[in-house]
This record gives sequence, structure tokens and C-alpha cells, in this order.
Amino acid sequence: MKPEIDYRTQALKILPHVCTRCAREFAGKRLRELTVHHKDGNHDNNPPDGSNWELLCIYCHENEHARVEDSRAGGSREPTVTPATHRPLEGLDELLKRKK
Ligand SMILES: [Zn+2]
Ligand SMILES: [Zn+2]
Repeated sequence: MKPEIDYRTQALKILPHVCTRCAREFAGKRLRELTVHHKDGNHDNNPPDGSNWELLCIYCHENEHARVEDSRAGGSREPTVTPATHRPLEGLDELLKRKK
């Protein structure tokens, strides 16, 4: 077994705590909602300079992958996403948008 690289810790260390997609900032407890996306889709490709990483909030991250799977049209995955119930922070999104 190869050693588990904690790339999330490393990514949070060198990248700004902002979702690349929706530009929301994450701090403190909410930092848990920020996840590391691998640009090339290869989770074993973890260059220490972060060139393969992108910080995405869990919602944008999900969208990102849903998009990729849609375009692949392989249909190997069961449809798990139910948009109506799956976005507890949708209201919050609206609030943040209005503030700007
Ligand atoms: Zn986001
Ligand atoms: Zn990802």
C-alpha cells in the first residue's frame, strides 16, 4: 500500500480558501465544505505545488462531476442526485448573491 497523502491539508495550505467556481469564501467550521477537485480527474496525481488541484465547495464539486458524467453518457452510475432535496444551502446562496 502506498502512503495516504493528505492532499486536502496540503491544498488548503497553499491555495486561498475560496471556491473556484462560486467564489464563496470558507473559514472556520465551514472549511469542511471546501473540497479538493483534481483537474485531471486522477486522485493519485498530487503535485505539491497544487497544479492539479482546485478548491471547490461541496455543491460546486458535485455539479462539476455531474457535468463530466453527463458528457460521458456512459450511464454506469445510477442517478443519485435529487436537486430539490439536495441543496440545503440554496437559500443561503441567494442571500449571499443579494448582498453583493
Ligand atoms: Zn462553490
Ligand atoms: Zn473532483
